[in-house]
Amino acid sequence: MKRIVVLGAGESGAGAAVLAKQQGFDVFVSDLSEIKENYKELLNQYQIEWEEKQHTEEIILKADEVIKSPGIPDKAPIIKKLKEKNIPIISEIEFAGRFTNAKMICITGSNGKTTTTMLTYHILKNAGYNVGLAGNVGQSLAYQVATSSHDYYVVEISSFQLDGMYHFKADVAILLNITPDHLDRYEYNFQNYVNSKFRITQNQTSEDVFIFWDDDPVIQSEIARRNILATQYPFSLTKKEHSKAYVENNNLIIETSNNLFIMPVKELSLKGIHNTYNMMAAGLAASAVNVKKEFIRQSLQDFQGVEHRLEYVATVRNVTFINDSKATNVNSCWYALESMKTPVILILGGTDKGNDYSEIESLVKEKVKGLVFLGVDNTPLHRFFDDKIDKIVDVHSMEDAVKAAYSMAEAGDTVLLSPCCASFDLFQNYEDRGRQFKTCVRNL
Ligand code: ADP
Repeated sequence: MKRIVVLGAGESGAGAAVLAKQQGFDVFVSDLSEIKENYKELLNQYQIEWEEKQHTEEIILKADEVIKSPGIPDKAPIIKKLKEKNIPIISEIEFAGRFTNAKMICITGSNGKTTTTMLTYHILKNAGYNVGLAGNVGQSLAYQVATSSHDYYVVEISSFQLDGMYHFKADVAILLNITPDHLDRYEYNFQNYVNSKFRITQNQTSEDVFIFWDDDPVIQSEIARRNILATQYPFSLTKKEHSKAYVENNNLIIETSNNLFIMPVKELSLKGIHNTYNMMAAGLAASAVNVKKEFIRQSLQDFQGVEHRLEYVATVRNVTFINDSKATNVNSCWYALESMKTPVILILGGTDKGNDYSEIESLVKEKVKGLVFLGVDNTPLHRFFDDKIDKIVDVHSMEDAVKAAYSMAEAGDTVLLSPCCASFDLFQNYEDRGRQFKTCVRNL
């Protein structure tokens, strides 16, 4: 019997193990950290063998195939050993794709993945499609393939998942944008990261659809030098020769062979041009699978947004607080600042991934009155901003950050948490950081 080893037992690994077991493989799960209680229970329920806080090489190196969780880097010693032995390593999405005929709408990009994934799901759901939401949001694709039968999946796919994908095909692929992120996992070579993102188009044929942001210089130059077989659905802010979605006279327009859709931008439920892009992408994906326009319209009007993404928290004595904790890189903070209509007190900082803050420099100079640095080590921030902004405060807890920002703010200002950095120095994750922010704001 084929032996599958699953490395990492989070949502993706546990789901992959359940599917492998259900398909009759001999399955072993190994996690170098402690496995969360709910996943242990799930593995036990399916009588899957597992270990935690160790990797037993005698077992792992006997695998016929390994499913690696996206969090495990290629430089991990166990991965190196598997590669030396030429044991195939794939990702959970690759594995899950083998066992379903459902249509796959797959979304990747450096920023906007979750928002666009939720939006697309929302539209298909409203239109009555039998659709599952999978990937980095909600339950893993593998678990859903094992336990339910959907006709469509909307799947958020990170570059780490894409790295382990070979034969999987997206029926509809969305590439939102490519800006530097996670370079620590790509040998500090941007092209490696770009190549990873473009795997979203691999195996596509002319029957399939590739939706992409046509204003992105990186995507443009890659498309010019690649042989993309899929039918292309480019979207852009203004109409170009081949645009399938764009804005004209303050209307969002979608123009595909089967759909002409026009809707005033002001009726879109999410604000900011980045969200207009996300809505174009989701609207195009829905058109590609023949959703009727009344459902697209209604869904783009009533979509509630996603927690921690430019989420309105409260207004205290006329100071507005916005939680954008999910802005874990500089580019997403750029879009947050871009969408601000008032003077801003910006809270930023955390685990710096080699950030270049010059991208937000002019917006900071234009809109930001004060900066609050929230991190264990704020030196990279000081190095960049000290001679550019007068009011800077250093803090090491969310409570102090909110108090400092509030005391800097005047009536009419906005306090924006949009950290540009990962959260792991002071918080469990970005959700924890965002929730602490909201609690502290509500306690003011
Ligand atoms: P991801 O899942 O790719 O991290 P999210 O939808 O969670 O993306 O949004 C992450 C951050 O990026 C948010 O702070 C949001 O304000 C910003 N953002 C959302 N969509 C876009 C976009 N299309 N381009 C740039 N930034 C975006």
